[in-house]
Amino acid sequence: MPTIHDAVIIPGDGIGPAVSAAVAKVLSAAGAPVRFHEHHAGLAALEDGDDVLPQSTVDAVREHHVALKGPCTTPVGKGFTSVNVQLRKRLDLFAAIRPVRSLPGVPTRYDDVDLVIFRENTEGLYSGVENEIVPGVVTSLKIASRDACTRIARRAFVYAKRRGRKKVTVFHKANIMKLSDGLFLDCVKQVHDDEFNDIPYETQIIDAGCMKIVQDPTQFDLLLMENLYGDVISDLAAGLVGGLGVVPGSNLGDEDAVFEAVHGSAPDIAGKGIANPLALLMSAVMMLNHLSETRKDDRCLKAANAIKKAYNRALEDNQKTGDLGGTLTTDGFADAVIERLNG
Ligand code: ATP
Repeated sequence: MPTIHDAVIIPGDGIGPAVSAAVAKVLSAAGAPVRFHEHHAGLAALEDGDDVLPQSTVDAVREHHVALKGPCTTPVGKGFTSVNVQLRKRLDLFAAIRPVRSLPGVPTRYDDVDLVIFRENTEGLYSGVENEIVPGVVTSLKIASRDACTRIARRAFVYAKRRGRKKVTVFHKANIMKLSDGLFLDCVKQVHDDEFNDIPYETQIIDAGCMKIVQDPTQFDLLLMENLYGDVISDLAAGLVGGLGVVPGSNLGDEDAVFEAVHGSAPDIAGKGIANPLALLMSAVMMLNHLSETRKDDRCLKAANAIKKAYNRALEDNQKTGDLGGTLTTDGFADAVIERLNG
């Protein structure tokens, strides 16, 4: 086992550099055995005269296998393909995993939310295959392949089994998209029936599912879905627990793992020093847990647990950024966590 684990850090755009710096500071104070190598993507890379997703950044993730990534801005309508989507595709990070949990000291309509969203990360409408077939008429291709649907299903059931999740619910719209969502459903059912029939499994048409989540999120546990649905449901679920400042995520392939918050670059608050670094800090905790599991290094688990305890304490002590009703700056919240690391 190396004495220190090399990992890539991609600060990203908008609030990305500020929240990344705050998180790196907390990890260092917690003694996490990680050495970050900084690489750029997004507008930051373009400003350096590089590609929006430089080959050197992709190569660095391939070399170290683990990255912590800030959000990269994606212009609406025109411009380059989303860096986030490109990175997931080029590294084949096919599974996005987003735990959504109630936090101490963050009162919301519900106090016992505990959901995990599994999003297929490489296909669906995010294939980016769009054409103007005649002037004024465009098509956008939704892709579903048996291999990709099967591997995300298997990853979700493996996770459910390992973590003792109570059931897997697939959100879909197979009543309308009979072939694409129909294939997704077929593949999940097959993986369930052949390999995981001890785990309760159900299907739910997504529009009714949205209504049910906001009525009572505790009726769900692990939610599995294709790419676009996963994107939308992640933000909806974030709204149940305090917003985008508190929902982390991981993008996992067979070889590499990129950890990033669900939120975007939040241009409306960029540069003001008020962004909540917690979502990226929680993503960093997921990264430490991943390192602990894959590299068998208990020091990573210890640092992850210490950081988790410290941010929970900070929230209980009402140490919060503006999005959660507090007054702390990005750095102020990081300092509040650091002060509680050894308490
Ligand atoms: P992008 O184009 O990069 O996706 P966006 O503005 O569309 O950016 P988000 O960045 O996800 O989407 O922001 C949505 C809203 O949530 C914004 O009002 C933003 O300020 C707020 N928000 C997102 N992340 C945070 C955070 N970490 N702390 C505080 N507020 C946040």
